[in-house]
Amino acid sequence: MHGALSTPLVYHGIEMTTHTIPHTATSVLFGCIDDRLTAADSEFINQHGGAFHPALAGGGAAFLDPEARSVALSQIVAAYRIAGATTIYLESHTDCGAYRLAGVRFDSLAAEIDRLTADLKQAAKYVKAALIQADAPTDAIEIFIRIINPAGHELDLQRQP
Ligand SMILES: [Zn+2]
Repeated sequence: MHGALSTPLVYHGIEMTTHTIPHTATSVLFGCIDDRLTAADSEFINQHGGAFHPALAGGGAAFLDPEARSVALSQIVAAYRIAGATTIYLESHTDCGAYRLAGVRFDSLAAEIDRLTADLKQAAKYVKAALIQADAPTDAIEIFIRIINPAGHELDLQRQP
């Protein structure tokens, strides 16, 4: 879209040949802020050709809190408007500090995964509705829910209707 600038752009003493780079990612990985997941999230993003990567404490659970939900949805809609991103991965993880802070305790790993799955499925419904409201083409929208453990191993990945 843009040719090279005719006059070099200098910023903080550094000459730039260009100040724009096209977006190549068409995915969003929405996850938790958890520091233990950084490497696993980066690996997942690289495997999927890049991704916008917003994060809020709780990952998918952030969509269930009314205040956090509007922020979370606004980031996904922004990625759609900026680069046409319509493939959305909603990620939560076991041993999540946000659930602990909310006083949620689990009796078993199975119970924990069930709860994360239920929360992610609800989040996926909000995300789909927000993208449709932002005029994203319905047939291009693909929403996946993903559960990983704190070591970054994938426990579940499911496409949502
Ligand atoms: Zn977490």
